[in-house]
Amino acid sequence: MRRVVIAGGGTAGWMTAAAIAKTMGRTVAVTLVESDAIGTIGVGESTIPPLQIYNRLLGIGEAEFMRETQATFKLGILFDHWKQVGHSYFHSFGMTGKDHWAAGFQHFWLYGREKGHAQSYDDYCLELIAALQGRFAHLPDNRMNYAYQLDSTLYARFLRTLAEKEGTRRIEGKIAQVELDGASGHIAALSLESGERIEGDLFVDCTGFRALLIEGALHAGHDDWTHWLPCDSAIAVQTESVRPAVPYTRAMAHDAGWQWRIPLQHRTGNGIVYCSRYLDRDAALERLLGNIEGQTLTQPNFLRFAAGARRRQWHRNCVAIGLSAGFMEPLESTSIHLIQRAVLRLLRLFPEGGISEADVAEFNEQQDADMLQIRDFLILHYKATDRRDSPFWRQCADMPVPDSLAHRIELFRETGRVFRKNEELFAENSWVQVMMGQGIMPRRHHPVAERLSDEELDQFLSGIRESVERTVASLPEHAAYIQHYCGAG
Ligand code: FAD
Repeated sequence: MRRVVIAGGGTAGWMTAAAIAKTMGRTVAVTLVESDAIGTIGVGESTIPPLQIYNRLLGIGEAEFMRETQATFKLGILFDHWKQVGHSYFHSFGMTGKDHWAAGFQHFWLYGREKGHAQSYDDYCLELIAALQGRFAHLPDNRMNYAYQLDSTLYARFLRTLAEKEGTRRIEGKIAQVELDGASGHIAALSLESGERIEGDLFVDCTGFRALLIEGALHAGHDDWTHWLPCDSAIAVQTESVRPAVPYTRAMAHDAGWQWRIPLQHRTGNGIVYCSRYLDRDAALERLLGNIEGQTLTQPNFLRFAAGARRRQWHRNCVAIGLSAGFMEPLESTSIHLIQRAVLRLLRLFPEGGISEADVAEFNEQQDADMLQIRDFLILHYKATDRRDSPFWRQCADMPVPDSLAHRIELFRETGRVFRKNEELFAENSWVQVMMGQGIMPRRHHPVAERLSDEELDQFLSGIRESVERTVASLPEHAAYIQHYCGAG
């Protein structure tokens, strides 16, 4: 396993190349083939906190990364009109309040509510309040948990420089054919339209929705989840910035899907995600353009997709990473994260001595688990809603959901309990914020909350709120902080 060939040079291709080249050094030869004529998908701007770790592993300095990708900080997502039209809630990256070992903070807040404490659950979360006030700073001990909003085309370009510096060979050209070895069924080589032939031992399919290797050549199969995640279309457009960038992404539901707004340093990313069964392309475009701020900087980018996952993301000597491995809509900004998870997993299971079926099975099992957990979290946003104002929302509210999610919703509704399972991406705080934000209010709280006297409860709750208020008041304005941080970097 000395020759790694990466097909495709979008965010997935260059994230893979940079990490393998950096980690494995000259022990493997990395070649990446991409076609400028085909180009990349050109969207993917909102991320989640683990990207910090990825950049650190690659030795990337944060200020330089932010300058190169025009990134802003992100403290979470503001969801408008999801529970009902006119209602908003925030899913933040932080912790809310303080947990007790026996019960999450929500139990104390629920008990407090019963006792007449009227403050919102939001008031107990530092990242959430900082986001809504447009403030940000790095705090000691990583007390402020954050991610980035970035230009993914610039990120791929940045990683390309890094990967090439570490020895990755880039070949420009269109893959015309994927050659299989007759005996093993493994991929033997990629033939380019130019006539060039690229042989390899391990192939990474980063060809995006085309999935040229994993599906086109190896027919790994695809699980369809469109009955749970029915949006199948998007239109993206970039606009000029008209106000200082806020440290959060906005997801505004409409009657057949939702719209994103992602502020970067130099511009704003916008897009509408919708279900083509209920909204046609012209109406979707009109709706998008009617709800943007500032002049458009690009032509609309029309995209089609189907929610689902490749049945085997590692099959024979080919690993699919990025859109070729599957796709779920960008509601919780999870795609780039799934690339990161797959790349790190591949490195841990790197088949230096040849492909072992045990490695392949382990990789596929872990990838599947990631995707299923994220899938459930996304479905929750559509299922738990009071909206019945359009056929789209009625379909979502009526749909049966996977048993795993149905159980979670029921447990939370009855008892206020929710558990993070098997190192899943979204921890308890995320589930609580989204479930309550979407309107699922628990019927009970854990009795441990009642061990506090009225006075102790009052002190406990007000102490957290005041600490959040004090800290947020001491933070600088987000856009000014970036200017200082990147300029000084
Ligand atoms: P692509 O960018 O499509 O790259 C494919 C590569 O393969 C290109 O280099 C292309 O040239 C090459 N290629 C294809 N065929 C050939 C061929 N025959 N020969 C040679 N080269 C070939 N993710 C997030 O994390 N956050 C978001 O906010 C987010 N928003 C999104 C919004 C929408 C509407 C969509 C659809 C996706 C979004 N994503 C988001 C996902 C994100 O865009 C992708 O995960 C990410 O860009 C990786 O894409 P990719 O590299 O797999 O594919």
